[in-house]
Amino acid sequence: MRVSEDRYSRDRQRFDIAVQFIQHEARTHTIRAWTGLSDDRIRKLYRSYLCDGAGTRLTRHRGKSPQQVAFFMRSVRTRQEAALLASLCRLLGALPPVPAPGLARSLPGLARGELLCQAFQAYRGLVPDGLISFEHAVFLLTTLAQGEELVLGGCRDCGAALLVDRWSLRAPRCPLCAADHAQDQGTGS
Ligand SMILES: [Zn+2]
Repeated sequence: MRVSEDRYSRDRQRFDIAVQFIQHEARTHTIRAWTGLSDDRIRKLYRSYLCDGAGTRLTRHRGKSPQQVAFFMRSVRTRQEAALLASLCRLLGALPPVPAPGLARSLPGLARGELLCQAFQAYRGLVPDGLISFEHAVFLLTTLAQGEELVLGGCRDCGAALLVDRWSLRAPRCPLCAADHAQDQGTGS
């Protein structure tokens, strides 16, 4: 009895997470990796979701998921949004506290998928026209968990959360502190 109840709630959770991933326009292979559902079941879920009328504005993305960390570093705005999203992932427990190269493979799963959805929803709540898609959020989480290129660090002056290039020699400053610093330098004080 207990076993079948557990199984039922696990299946229920699997579908709930898959629907959330669909709502966030995740790619099929991402949904498969995080929920363990087959492509066929994901396709059916897509179809029933679209038939409900709830997902009429949904775009189904195909092809590869994002792979370039440069996306997060290309402007002040993307850096700030990525740092915010990464902080939310850390606060909610989606991002493991210590990066390790082997972590990427063990990240996908129902419990973490749920936390990632919560973090992404909080991010979109704070930045409704945010630049980071859900697929990029998955990529950011994976990149930071591995810690081979980017890590979540802090501003050298105020400690604000920042994405930091792992190979940079000095801790960077956040945009506000960088502006203050430039001004101080300019006035010679
Ligand atoms: Zn700062």
